[in-house]
Amino acid sequence: MSQPTSITVAKGDGIGPEIMDATLHILKEAGAALDIEEISIGEQEYLKGNSAGIAKESFDSILRTKVFLKAPITTPQGGGYKSLNVTTRKALGLYANVRPCVSYHPFVRTKHPKMDVVIVRENEEDLYAGIEHQQTVDVTQCLKLITRQGTERIVRYAFEYARANNRKKVTCFTKDNIMKITDGLFHKIFDEIAGEYTDIENEHWIVDIGAAKLADTPEGFDVVVMPNLYGDILSDVAAQIAGSVGLAGSANIGPEHAMFEAIHGSAPRRAGQNLANPSGLFLGSVMMLLHINQVEVAERAHNAWLKTIEDGIHTYDIFKEDVSKEKVGTKEFAQAVVARMGQKPETLPAVHYARQEKQIDTNPPYTRPNVVRKLVGVDVFCEHVGATEEVAKALQACDANGLKLRMISSRGMTVWPEGFATTLLCDHWRCRFLVEDPENGAALPHTEVAALLDRVAKSGMEFIKTEGLYYFDGKPAFQMGQGQK
Ligand code: NAD
Repeated sequence: MSQPTSITVAKGDGIGPEIMDATLHILKEAGAALDIEEISIGEQEYLKGNSAGIAKESFDSILRTKVFLKAPITTPQGGGYKSLNVTTRKALGLYANVRPCVSYHPFVRTKHPKMDVVIVRENEEDLYAGIEHQQTVDVTQCLKLITRQGTERIVRYAFEYARANNRKKVTCFTKDNIMKITDGLFHKIFDEIAGEYTDIENEHWIVDIGAAKLADTPEGFDVVVMPNLYGDILSDVAAQIAGSVGLAGSANIGPEHAMFEAIHGSAPRRAGQNLANPSGLFLGSVMMLLHINQVEVAERAHNAWLKTIEDGIHTYDIFKEDVSKEKVGTKEFAQAVVARMGQKPETLPAVHYARQEKQIDTNPPYTRPNVVRKLVGVDVFCEHVGATEEVAKALQACDANGLKLRMISSRGMTVWPEGFATTLLCDHWRCRFLVEDPENGAALPHTEVAALLDRVAKSGMEFIKTEGLYYFDGKPAFQMGQGQK
């Protein structure tokens, strides 16, 4: 047996302890070499006053072992509690969420008998950065951040994952027909990096039609990489249509640390009855074994599990009279897997985890591109209750030193100098000031922006924020107003 790998284990709440015991039992019998540090997380920690659901010493264990196998927890009702998952992801920089969604037809009922999709979701950026503000009485905003560095590493991770797992294609979903700059960057980087992996097919779909196709014909997809929000939603859809959310495991991977879990929750109503299906957590633990390079153990355990499913030994949640042979409890299911150790499935495809010579590089080097940036104007966001012409008149009076009001928009839609009478107006106005010749003229000094804001303040108009308008390498790095001519 190889040197044991230290891991941190948390049994969580509800069905957590039962499914964790079942999982650890299978791993032990499969020959996993693990040195387990057990920590307490979840409800009892929240109720003790740890608002993050974990004590500092317990978090230190994860920092030390770098590998965290986590059972689901119950978030107590009422406010004031922070999500342990969000805390762990952010604190450890677990940027890649990997969720294989596989159907086990004909042994587990599904509408999609040939589904075998892995969703790779960016886990830290996008609308989840938590940068939200109320700007005016009427208007709130949430900033969507897509970084070059974050996108490069998640896209590269998806291709490296595909290569390491003998996958043939990586698909990217974005909405870059609308979000041309943020999702546009994600798509552009996807195309750049895809070019480095000529052995793997690549394609891009606009997320709406891509999601429809994924739900309708998932067999057409292999690995799918997406920004955070789309990935959050579509990974649940994909797991559910594969057969059951109770069967899916998930890995959260960072440059140095990783967390493995089931995707379902703590199912409190099923707790303590030896009923729950341990498969989601078990499949999460198989990803953990691959991560810590115990490849043969992962293969042995996974194939024994597949054989158990194939033999119709099922927990209540997937038990069906016509396909299942025996309804078992959590412990008995684990015993059935252990009894099949060394066997392979006959109808379902067996897994072959070839010895991975090289682990996926989770912290690839990043070189910030050298780009020339030129300030050419500023969007000044103002609060005002009244007519468009009132805003235009007050702000045109602020034109000076070549900086001129060119456009006003309401909720992104241009309303001045021309607009549509049908556009809904609210108390939030984006007023665009630009220099005369943004492309060829000199850069706008920052002092001119400050001087403009001084004039706006004196005009009596209430400004609430500004956004710099730049050219990067001679090209505009901001969108026109919708409907702008
Ligand atoms: P849930 O996933 O716990 O349960 C949804 C349904 O699926 C229930 O009917 C449940 O009985 C069933 N189910 C789930 N896992 C099962 C399994 N392994 N075997 C058999 N049946 C299973 O979702 P919920 O009821 O919305 O949430 C319960 C608690 O879990 C909440 O406190 C929630 O905050 C928490 N939660 C935690 C995590 C996590 O720790 N990662 C994730 C989701 C929800």
